[in-house]
Amino acid sequence: MARRWIDAEVPKAWARELEADEQNYPFALWDKLVEAGFLGIGIDEEYGGQGGDILIQMIFARELARTAGGLLWVWGLTSFAGAKSISHFGSDAQKQRWLPDMAAGKCRVSIGFTEPDGGTDVLGAMKTFGEKVDGGWIVNGQKMWCTAAKVADRILLLVRTDRNVEKRHHGLTLFFLDAKSPGVSADLLPKLGMRAMGSCALFLDNVFIPDDCVLGEVGKAWYMVLPSLNNERIMVGAQCLGAIDGVLEDAVDYAKTRKAFGKPIGQFQAIQHYIADIATWQTQTELLMYYVSWLQNNGQECGVQSNMLKMVASENAVKAADLGIQILGGMGYSAETDMQRYWRDHRILRMTPISNEMVRNSIAESLGLPRSF
Ligand SMILES: Cc1cc2nc3c(=O)[nH]c(=O)nc-3n(C[C@H](O)[C@H](O)[C@H](O)COP(=O)(O)OP(=O)(O)OC[C@H]3O[C@@H](n4cnc5c(N)ncnc54)[C@H](O)[C@@H]3O)c2cc1C
Repeated sequence: MARRWIDAEVPKAWARELEADEQNYPFALWDKLVEAGFLGIGIDEEYGGQGGDILIQMIFARELARTAGGLLWVWGLTSFAGAKSISHFGSDAQKQRWLPDMAAGKCRVSIGFTEPDGGTDVLGAMKTFGEKVDGGWIVNGQKMWCTAAKVADRILLLVRTDRNVEKRHHGLTLFFLDAKSPGVSADLLPKLGMRAMGSCALFLDNVFIPDDCVLGEVGKAWYMVLPSLNNERIMVGAQCLGAIDGVLEDAVDYAKTRKAFGKPIGQFQAIQHYIADIATWQTQTELLMYYVSWLQNNGQECGVQSNMLKMVASENAVKAADLGIQILGGMGYSAETDMQRYWRDHRILRMTPISNEMVRNSIAESLGLPRSF
Protein backbone atom coordinates (compact mmCIF):
# COMPACT_ATOMS: atom_id res chain seq x y z
CA MET A 1 0.00 0.00 0.00
CA ALA A 2 2.80 2.38 0.91
CA ARG A 3 4.59 1.65 -2.36
CA ARG A 4 1.47 2.27 -4.44
CA TRP A 5 0.73 5.50 -2.59
CA ILE A 6 4.32 6.73 -2.87
CA ASP A 7 4.53 5.96 -6.59
CA ALA A 8 1.35 7.96 -7.16
CA GLU A 9 1.85 10.81 -4.68
CA VAL A 10 5.64 11.19 -4.28
CA PRO A 11 7.13 10.33 -7.69
CA LYS A 12 10.86 10.75 -8.13
CA ALA A 13 10.53 13.70 -10.49
CA TRP A 14 8.54 15.63 -7.88
CA ALA A 15 11.01 14.74 -5.10
CA ARG A 16 13.81 16.00 -7.36
CA GLU A 17 12.03 19.31 -7.80
CA LEU A 18 11.37 19.68 -4.07
CA GLU A 19 14.95 18.86 -3.11
CA ALA A 20 16.40 21.35 -5.60
CA ASP A 21 14.42 24.19 -4.02
CA GLU A 22 17.07 24.75 -1.38
CA GLN A 23 15.54 27.74 0.40
CA ASN A 24 12.11 26.21 0.90
CA TYR A 25 11.07 23.36 3.15
CA PRO A 26 8.84 20.89 1.25
CA PHE A 27 5.57 21.69 3.02
CA ALA A 28 3.64 20.10 0.12
CA LEU A 29 5.20 16.71 0.96
CA TRP A 30 4.51 17.19 4.68
CA ASP A 31 0.85 18.01 3.89
CA LYS A 32 0.41 14.89 1.75
CA LEU A 33 1.93 12.65 4.43
CA VAL A 34 -0.32 14.22 7.07
CA GLU A 35 -3.44 13.85 4.95
CA ALA A 36 -2.68 10.18 4.28
CA GLY A 37 -2.19 9.55 8.03
CA PHE A 38 1.44 8.47 7.68
CA LEU A 39 2.63 10.80 10.43
CA GLY A 40 0.87 8.40 12.83
CA ILE A 41 2.99 5.35 11.95
CA GLY A 42 4.76 4.19 15.11
CA ILE A 43 2.65 6.38 17.43
CA ASP A 44 0.34 4.37 19.72
CA GLU A 45 -3.32 4.30 18.75
CA GLU A 46 -4.34 5.64 22.16
CA TYR A 47 -2.53 8.87 21.21
CA GLY A 48 -4.16 9.13 17.79
CA GLY A 49 -1.47 7.28 15.87
CA GLN A 50 -1.65 4.17 13.70
CA GLY A 51 0.52 2.00 15.95
CA GLY A 52 3.24 -0.16 14.41
CA ASP A 53 6.64 -1.35 15.55
CA ILE A 54 10.14 -0.62 14.29
CA LEU A 55 9.70 -3.12 11.44
CA ILE A 56 6.57 -1.37 10.14
CA GLN A 57 8.31 1.99 10.41
CA MET A 58 11.30 0.64 8.49
CA ILE A 59 9.15 -0.76 5.70
CA PHE A 60 7.58 2.68 5.29
CA ALA A 61 10.95 4.46 5.55
CA ARG A 62 12.43 2.21 2.88
CA GLU A 63 9.56 2.87 0.48
CA LEU A 64 9.62 6.61 1.02
CA ALA A 65 13.40 6.82 0.57
CA ARG A 66 13.10 4.93 -2.74
CA THR A 67 11.64 8.06 -4.34
CA ALA A 68 12.14 10.87 -1.83
CA GLY A 69 15.74 10.04 -0.80
CA GLY A 70 16.83 12.29 2.07
CA LEU A 71 13.45 14.06 2.09
CA LEU A 72 12.39 10.97 4.02
CA TRP A 73 13.27 13.06 7.07
CA VAL A 74 10.19 15.21 6.47
CA TRP A 75 8.47 12.17 7.98
CA GLY A 76 11.36 10.80 10.04
CA LEU A 77 12.23 13.79 12.23
CA THR A 78 8.74 14.02 13.68
CA SER A 79 7.23 10.59 13.39
CA PHE A 80 10.31 8.52 14.02
CA ALA A 81 12.77 10.54 16.12
CA GLY A 82 10.40 13.01 17.81
CA ALA A 83 7.53 10.68 18.56
CA LYS A 84 9.85 7.92 19.75
CA SER A 85 11.52 10.29 22.21
CA ILE A 86 8.22 11.47 23.66
CA SER A 87 6.86 7.90 23.76
CA HIS A 88 9.95 6.62 25.57
CA PHE A 89 10.96 9.52 27.81
CA GLY A 90 7.79 11.58 28.22
CA SER A 91 5.45 11.49 31.23
CA ASP A 92 1.81 10.55 30.67
CA ALA A 93 0.87 14.23 30.61
CA GLN A 94 3.59 14.99 28.04
CA LYS A 95 2.45 12.10 25.84
CA GLN A 96 -1.13 13.41 25.97
CA ARG A 97 0.07 16.89 25.20
CA TRP A 98 2.31 16.23 22.18
CA LEU A 99 1.79 12.81 20.58
CA PRO A 100 -1.74 13.46 19.21
CA ASP A 101 -0.47 16.69 17.63
CA MET A 102 2.45 14.86 16.05
CA ALA A 103 0.21 12.14 14.66
CA ALA A 104 -2.13 14.81 13.25
CA GLY A 105 0.70 16.79 11.66
CA LYS A 106 0.29 19.78 13.97
CA CYS A 107 3.71 19.57 15.59
CA ARG A 108 6.90 19.40 13.53
CA VAL A 109 10.07 18.30 15.35
CA SER A 110 13.76 19.09 14.90
CA ILE A 111 16.75 17.70 16.82
CA GLY A 112 19.48 19.79 18.42
CA PHE A 113 22.29 17.61 19.75
CA THR A 114 25.40 18.49 17.68
CA GLU A 115 27.39 21.64 18.50
CA PRO A 116 29.86 23.69 16.41
CA ASP A 117 32.91 22.14 18.12
CA GLY A 118 31.96 18.63 17.00
CA GLY A 119 29.39 15.89 16.74
CA THR A 120 31.51 12.76 17.18
CA ASP A 121 32.81 13.87 20.55
CA VAL A 122 29.41 15.34 21.27
CA LEU A 123 29.92 15.43 25.04
CA GLY A 124 33.39 16.96 24.83
CA ALA A 125 32.10 19.66 22.49
CA MET A 126 28.92 20.54 24.35
CA LYS A 127 28.86 24.11 25.68
CA THR A 128 25.13 24.87 25.61
CA PHE A 129 24.16 25.38 29.22
CA GLY A 130 20.87 25.56 31.10
CA GLU A 131 20.66 27.37 34.41
CA LYS A 132 17.84 26.59 36.86
CA VAL A 133 15.51 29.50 37.58
CA ASP A 134 12.07 29.73 39.13
CA GLY A 135 9.67 27.55 37.09
CA GLY A 136 12.16 26.49 34.47
CA TRP A 137 15.57 26.97 32.89
CA ILE A 138 17.46 29.71 31.06
CA VAL A 139 19.42 28.19 28.19
CA ASN A 140 22.31 29.77 26.27
CA GLY A 141 24.41 28.27 23.51
CA GLN A 142 24.56 27.16 19.91
CA LYS A 143 23.68 23.98 18.06
CA MET A 144 24.88 22.96 14.62
CA TRP A 145 23.18 21.13 11.72
CA CYS A 146 19.81 21.28 13.42
CA THR A 147 17.74 19.97 10.51
CA ALA A 148 14.41 21.68 9.77
CA ALA A 149 14.86 23.98 12.80
CA LYS A 150 13.45 27.01 10.98
CA VAL A 151 10.12 25.29 10.36
CA ALA A 152 9.94 23.29 13.59
CA ASP A 153 7.34 23.70 16.32
CA ARG A 154 9.45 21.82 18.87
CA ILE A 155 13.17 21.07 19.16
CA LEU A 156 14.51 18.08 21.04
CA LEU A 157 17.42 19.80 22.75
CA LEU A 158 20.32 18.23 24.63
CA VAL A 159 21.74 20.65 27.19
CA ARG A 160 24.33 20.56 29.96
CA THR A 161 22.60 21.57 33.18
CA ASP A 162 25.39 20.70 35.64
CA ARG A 163 29.10 21.39 35.14
CA ASN A 164 30.22 19.95 38.46
CA VAL A 165 30.04 16.31 37.53
CA GLU A 166 32.45 13.41 37.85
CA LYS A 167 31.80 12.08 34.38
CA ARG A 168 30.94 14.15 31.35
CA HIS A 169 27.89 12.08 30.47
CA HIS A 170 26.39 13.12 33.81
CA GLY A 171 24.57 16.45 34.20
CA LEU A 172 22.82 16.48 30.81
CA THR A 173 19.12 17.21 30.38
CA LEU A 174 16.77 16.70 27.46
CA PHE A 175 14.25 19.48 26.73
CA PHE A 176 11.36 19.64 24.28
CA LEU A 177 11.79 23.28 23.45
CA ASP A 178 9.04 25.41 21.91
CA ALA A 179 10.87 26.53 18.76
CA LYS A 180 9.01 29.87 18.73
CA SER A 181 10.31 30.87 22.19
CA PRO A 182 11.95 34.32 22.45
CA GLY A 183 15.73 34.05 22.01
CA VAL A 184 15.63 31.12 19.53
CA SER A 185 16.91 31.84 16.02
CA ALA A 186 18.18 29.70 13.14
CA ASP A 187 20.32 30.29 10.03
CA LEU A 188 20.19 27.95 7.04
CA LEU A 189 23.44 26.14 6.18
CA PRO A 190 23.99 25.53 2.44
CA LYS A 191 24.97 21.90 1.82
CA LEU A 192 25.64 19.08 -0.66
CA GLY A 193 22.43 17.07 -0.35
CA MET A 194 18.99 16.94 1.28
CA ARG A 195 18.95 20.60 0.30
CA ALA A 196 15.33 21.48 0.99
CA MET A 197 15.49 19.96 4.48
CA GLY A 198 16.95 23.19 5.86
CA SER A 199 19.74 22.19 8.23
CA CYS A 200 20.52 25.15 10.49
CA ALA A 201 22.88 26.73 12.92
CA LEU A 202 20.63 27.24 15.95
CA PHE A 203 21.22 30.09 18.39
CA LEU A 204 19.86 30.08 21.93
CA ASP A 205 20.05 33.43 23.61
CA ASN A 206 18.64 33.49 27.15
CA VAL A 207 15.85 31.11 26.17
CA PHE A 208 13.40 30.29 28.96
CA ILE A 209 12.23 26.65 28.95
CA PRO A 210 9.51 25.78 31.48
CA ASP A 211 9.95 22.76 33.78
CA ASP A 212 7.12 20.89 32.08
CA CYS A 213 9.23 20.70 28.90
CA VAL A 214 11.95 18.60 30.55
CA LEU A 215 11.83 15.01 29.26
CA GLY A 216 12.69 12.37 31.84
CA GLU A 217 14.97 13.11 34.77
CA VAL A 218 17.07 16.26 35.02
CA GLY A 219 20.78 15.43 34.59
CA LYS A 220 20.15 11.89 33.35
CA ALA A 221 19.56 12.51 29.63
CA TRP A 222 22.50 10.44 28.43
CA TYR A 223 21.12 7.32 30.06
CA MET A 224 17.86 7.90 28.18
CA VAL A 225 19.41 8.68 24.81
CA LEU A 226 21.77 5.69 24.66
CA PRO A 227 19.12 2.94 24.37
CA SER A 228 17.43 4.86 21.52
CA LEU A 229 20.55 4.74 19.34
CA ASN A 230 19.83 1.28 17.91
CA ASN A 231 16.58 2.55 16.39
CA GLU A 232 18.40 5.46 14.81
CA ARG A 233 20.95 3.13 13.18
CA ILE A 234 18.18 0.84 11.90
CA MET A 235 16.44 3.87 10.39
CA VAL A 236 19.61 4.74 8.46
CA GLY A 237 19.70 1.14 7.23
CA ALA A 238 16.13 1.39 5.93
CA GLN A 239 16.75 4.75 4.26
CA CYS A 240 19.87 3.45 2.49
CA LEU A 241 18.07 0.31 1.40
CA GLY A 242 15.32 2.46 -0.13
CA ALA A 243 17.96 4.48 -1.97
CA ILE A 244 19.55 1.31 -3.37
CA ASP A 245 16.08 0.17 -4.52
CA GLY A 246 15.68 3.48 -6.37
CA VAL A 247 19.16 3.32 -7.91
CA LEU A 248 18.71 -0.28 -9.09
CA GLU A 249 15.38 0.26 -10.80
CA ASP A 250 16.62 3.38 -12.60
CA ALA A 251 19.87 1.69 -13.62
CA VAL A 252 18.12 -1.38 -15.05
CA ASP A 253 15.59 0.76 -16.95
CA TYR A 254 18.30 2.90 -18.45
CA ALA A 255 20.51 -0.07 -19.35
CA LYS A 256 17.62 -1.62 -21.28
CA THR A 257 16.77 1.48 -23.31
CA ARG A 258 19.97 3.47 -23.86
CA LYS A 259 21.82 2.36 -26.98
CA ALA A 260 25.50 2.49 -28.00
CA PHE A 261 27.16 0.74 -30.93
CA GLY A 262 23.70 -0.37 -32.05
CA LYS A 263 22.95 -2.29 -28.82
CA PRO A 264 21.33 -1.50 -25.48
CA ILE A 265 24.15 -0.65 -23.06
CA GLY A 266 22.76 -3.38 -20.78
CA GLN A 267 24.21 -5.87 -23.23
CA PHE A 268 27.77 -4.79 -22.36
CA GLN A 269 29.36 -6.97 -19.72
CA ALA A 270 30.79 -4.02 -17.79
CA ILE A 271 27.32 -2.52 -17.31
CA GLN A 272 25.88 -5.92 -16.37
CA HIS A 273 28.57 -6.30 -13.70
CA TYR A 274 27.79 -2.88 -12.25
CA ILE A 275 24.12 -3.81 -12.04
CA ALA A 276 24.94 -7.19 -10.49
CA ASP A 277 27.02 -5.43 -7.83
CA ILE A 278 24.18 -3.02 -6.98
CA ALA A 279 21.68 -5.89 -6.74
CA THR A 280 24.05 -7.78 -4.42
CA TRP A 281 24.46 -4.74 -2.14
CA GLN A 282 20.67 -4.43 -2.10
CA THR A 283 20.24 -8.01 -0.87
CA GLN A 284 23.05 -7.70 1.65
CA THR A 285 21.53 -4.50 3.09
CA GLU A 286 18.02 -5.97 3.08
CA LEU A 287 19.05 -9.10 4.99
CA LEU A 288 20.91 -7.11 7.59
CA MET A 289 18.12 -4.54 7.95
CA TYR A 290 15.43 -7.17 8.56
CA TYR A 291 17.69 -9.17 10.85
CA VAL A 292 18.52 -6.21 13.07
CA SER A 293 14.91 -4.93 13.09
CA TRP A 294 13.81 -8.41 14.13
CA LEU A 295 16.37 -8.49 16.98
CA GLN A 296 15.24 -5.06 18.16
CA ASN A 297 11.54 -5.98 17.91
CA ASN A 298 12.14 -9.07 19.99
CA GLY A 299 13.97 -7.20 22.71
CA GLN A 300 17.30 -8.83 21.92
CA GLU A 301 20.66 -7.09 22.28
CA CYS A 302 21.60 -5.56 18.91
CA GLY A 303 23.99 -2.68 19.61
CA VAL A 304 26.85 -4.18 17.57
CA GLN A 305 24.56 -5.42 14.80
CA SER A 306 22.79 -2.08 14.41
CA ASN A 307 26.19 -0.39 14.09
CA MET A 308 27.17 -2.93 11.43
CA LEU A 309 23.91 -2.29 9.57
CA LYS A 310 24.42 1.49 9.67
CA MET A 311 27.95 1.16 8.29
CA VAL A 312 27.23 -1.43 5.58
CA ALA A 313 24.01 0.27 4.44
CA SER A 314 25.49 3.76 4.14
CA GLU A 315 28.57 2.51 2.28
CA ASN A 316 26.47 0.33 -0.04
CA ALA A 317 24.08 3.19 -0.83
CA VAL A 318 26.89 5.55 -1.79
CA LYS A 319 28.68 2.86 -3.87
CA ALA A 320 25.39 1.97 -5.59
CA ALA A 321 24.58 5.58 -6.44
CA ASP A 322 28.12 6.12 -7.70
CA LEU A 323 27.85 3.14 -10.07
CA GLY A 324 24.36 4.36 -10.98
CA ILE A 325 25.87 7.63 -12.15
CA GLN A 326 28.41 5.66 -14.19
CA ILE A 327 25.69 3.57 -15.86
CA LEU A 328 23.71 6.66 -16.86
CA GLY A 329 26.87 8.37 -18.14
CA GLY A 330 26.39 12.12 -18.56
CA MET A 331 22.73 11.82 -17.64
CA GLY A 332 23.78 10.36 -14.29
CA TYR A 333 25.47 13.67 -13.54
CA SER A 334 22.49 15.66 -14.77
CA ALA A 335 20.10 17.36 -12.36
CA GLU A 336 17.32 15.94 -14.55
CA THR A 337 17.83 12.40 -13.25
CA ASP A 338 17.96 11.04 -9.70
CA MET A 339 21.34 9.30 -9.46
CA GLN A 340 23.14 12.49 -8.42
CA ARG A 341 20.47 13.10 -5.77
CA TYR A 342 20.77 9.56 -4.38
CA TRP A 343 24.53 10.02 -4.15
CA ARG A 344 24.36 13.48 -2.55
CA ASP A 345 21.55 12.61 -0.12
CA HIS A 346 23.19 9.46 1.18
CA ARG A 347 26.83 10.53 1.31
CA ILE A 348 26.05 12.23 4.64
CA LEU A 349 24.97 8.93 6.18
CA ARG A 350 28.58 7.80 6.33
CA MET A 351 29.03 10.64 8.85
CA THR A 352 25.74 10.93 10.66
CA PRO A 353 24.16 10.24 13.09
CA ILE A 354 27.50 8.64 13.97
CA SER A 355 30.53 8.45 11.70
CA ASN A 356 31.50 5.09 10.23
CA GLU A 357 34.94 5.51 11.80
CA MET A 358 33.31 5.61 15.24
CA VAL A 359 31.13 2.65 14.30
CA ARG A 360 34.25 0.66 13.43
CA ASN A 361 35.86 1.73 16.72
CA SER A 362 32.90 0.42 18.59
CA ILE A 363 32.66 -2.88 16.68
CA ALA A 364 36.38 -3.49 17.33
CA GLU A 365 35.92 -2.67 21.02
CA SER A 366 33.07 -5.18 21.25
CA LEU A 367 35.64 -7.82 20.28
CA GLY A 368 37.74 -6.98 23.32
CA LEU A 369 40.19 -4.56 21.70
CA PRO A 370 41.21 -1.50 23.73
CA ARG A 371 39.44 1.83 23.17
CA SER A 372 41.43 3.73 20.54
CA PHE A 373 40.53 7.29 21.54
C1 LIG B 1 23.17 17.40 6.56
C2 LIG B 1 23.37 17.16 8.01
C3 LIG B 1 22.27 17.02 8.83
C4 LIG B 1 22.43 16.84 10.20
N1 LIG B 1 21.34 16.84 11.00
C5 LIG B 1 21.52 16.89 12.35
C6 LIG B 1 20.41 17.12 13.22
O1 LIG B 1 19.26 17.26 12.78
N2 LIG B 1 20.63 17.21 14.55
C7 LIG B 1 21.88 17.08 15.08
O2 LIG B 1 22.01 17.17 16.30
N3 LIG B 1 22.95 16.85 14.28
C8 LIG B 1 22.81 16.77 12.94
N4 LIG B 1 23.90 16.60 12.11
C9 LIG B 1 25.23 16.49 12.71
C10 LIG B 1 25.91 15.14 12.52
O3 LIG B 1 25.35 14.21 13.42
C11 LIG B 1 27.41 15.36 12.70
O4 LIG B 1 27.88 16.02 11.54
C12 LIG B 1 28.15 14.06 12.94
O5 LIG B 1 27.86 13.58 14.23
C13 LIG B 1 29.66 14.22 12.80
O6 LIG B 1 30.12 15.28 13.60
P1 LIG B 1 31.05 16.44 12.98
O7 LIG B 1 30.45 16.88 11.71
O8 LIG B 1 31.24 17.47 14.03
O9 LIG B 1 32.42 15.75 12.64
P2 LIG B 1 33.65 15.56 13.66
O10 LIG B 1 33.15 15.03 14.94
O11 LIG B 1 34.43 16.81 13.68
O12 LIG B 1 34.49 14.42 12.92
C14 LIG B 1 35.37 14.71 11.83
C15 LIG B 1 36.07 13.42 11.39
O13 LIG B 1 36.86 12.89 12.47
C16 LIG B 1 36.55 11.53 12.67
N5 LIG B 1 36.75 11.15 14.07
C17 LIG B 1 36.39 11.85 15.18
N6 LIG B 1 36.68 11.14 16.29
C18 LIG B 1 37.23 9.97 15.87
C19 LIG B 1 37.72 8.82 16.53
N7 LIG B 1 37.73 8.69 17.86
N8 LIG B 1 38.19 7.79 15.79
C20 LIG B 1 38.19 7.87 14.43
N9 LIG B 1 37.73 8.94 13.75
C21 LIG B 1 37.25 9.96 14.45
C22 LIG B 1 35.08 11.39 12.26
O14 LIG B 1 34.75 10.06 11.98
C23 LIG B 1 35.06 12.30 11.02
O15 LIG B 1 35.54 11.58 9.91
C24 LIG B 1 23.75 16.74 10.74
C25 LIG B 1 24.85 16.86 9.90
C26 LIG B 1 24.68 17.10 8.57
C27 LIG B 1 25.90 17.32 7.70
